[in-house]
Amino acid sequence: MQQTLSIIKPDAVAKGVIGKILDRFETNGLRIAATKKVQLSRQDAEAFYAVHANRPFFNDLVDFMISGPVVISVLEGENAVLKNRELMGATNPKEAEAGTIRADFAENIDANAVHGSDSVENAAIEIAFFFSGREIS
Ligand code: ATP
Ligand code: MG
Repeated sequence: MQQTLSIIKPDAVAKGVIGKILDRFETNGLRIAATKKVQLSRQDAEAFYAVHANRPFFNDLVDFMISGPVVISVLEGENAVLKNRELMGATNPKEAEAGTIRADFAENIDANAVHGSDSVENAAIEIAFFFSGREIS
């Protein structure tokens, strides 16, 4: 059994599709082990996306991630990291396969509806960044 971290980004929260996105996870074998709605601080977003600190889009990414509340979840299931990435679709929604979350709910590469951990190692780091052990069950 694997765990991964999901973030429903401010664009999708503002659109009112939290429930529709969480439903994708549950109907595809990913159990919601924890979830919460949070307004990230600039410091939170900068630390969370620190791997991208030198990329040209970093400031826009941070501004976007703090532009409104997000919904952060721990998803659990077999191959949860990869399964979540498959359900999300490509980073650029224009390249995302039909039926994926980004194809259905995202506007563009900046506002792309969801984040998902990209490896088991990063999933553990990201889960510990946002959740205490007692919040996960
Ligand atoms: P996320 O980490 O949010 O799940 P991802 O793993 O699909 O997305 P990353 O390469 O980790 O993609 O990039 C993190 C975020 O930075 C992307 O979701 C996107 O919003 C933004 N981003 C990535 N590449 C670009 C780019 N070339 N131009 C603009 N924004 C980008
Ligand atoms: Mg990523």
